[in-house]
Amino acid sequence: MSVQSFNLFVYVWAILGLLLIPVLLKIRAPYGRFSTSNWGLMINNRLGWILMESPALLVFVIFFLAGNNINNLTCIFIFSLWVLHYSQRVFIFPFRIRTKGKKMPVLVMCMAILYNLVNGFINGWFLGSVSGFYKVSDLQSWNFIAGTILFLSGMFINLQSDNILRNLRSEGETGYKIPYGGLFRYISSPNYFGEILEWTGFVLVAWNLPALAFLIWTVANLLPRAITYHQWYRQIFSNYPRKRKALIPYIL
Ligand code: NDP
Repeated sequence: MSVQSFNLFVYVWAILGLLLIPVLLKIRAPYGRFSTSNWGLMINNRLGWILMESPALLVFVIFFLAGNNINNLTCIFIFSLWVLHYSQRVFIFPFRIRTKGKKMPVLVMCMAILYNLVNGFINGWFLGSVSGFYKVSDLQSWNFIAGTILFLSGMFINLQSDNILRNLRSEGETGYKIPYGGLFRYISSPNYFGEILEWTGFVLVAWNLPALAFLIWTVANLLPRAITYHQWYRQIFSNYPRKRKALIPYIL
């Protein structure tokens, strides 16, 4: 594939992500608390998570390793950040969630597989085959250092918040409670906030179009969902903390 047609594909993909935001503000993706059998065949929630997140890791790794940049230290560093995140998401997260008896629509899983296939491909291929222009000295540049700090801080916030949510349930429980602690003090979805920080950091580090397209899609998925969750919490719990925002402390 020529770099020109690849770039065109990524531009179109990023624009599709932007167009998705108003759609997802209207239609709540039917998994988790909004899961419904109205979307057809259902699959075990844990299995669904493993199957839908795996392509983001597998495809990214395969396309990176198939490229010419596997000896480029800077590319390996960027590669490691992605692998770090997705190893956690595929091999640890699904096994820790308390999701006994819960299901998600197969259709949702398939859409997520497509999403992860595309993002894994555009980022893995670009990093492995196109971005040989990175120099070792880039590792000391401001955007690498700031981006890495942002990525790791976002990952910490994401893991801490997912951990707080997990501990709200004891083994076998499936209901919902008000989360407290960590950044839940300020916002309803700090796990999403952390995830968005991570991929913003990744954009700063990688400084390329596929990374930006993935950030756009991440925001497109998580911003509407965080707003919906916030409204849902306020509706369900009369004692929900009034000052808490949806996604960005003090702002939104
Ligand atoms: P949620 O916050 O909806 O749920 C995370 C886990 O906590 C689920 O097991 C959920 O159970 C449980 N949970 C949530 N709220 C409560 C509560 N109030 N009381 C008890 N248990 C609760 O996150 P998602 O499932 O949407 O996402 C999981 C991870 O994946 C996150 O880290 C997120 O950032 C990431 N993600 C990334 C995307 C991207 O585009 N990059 C897209 C989507 C997710 P249940 O499932 O039963 O509701």
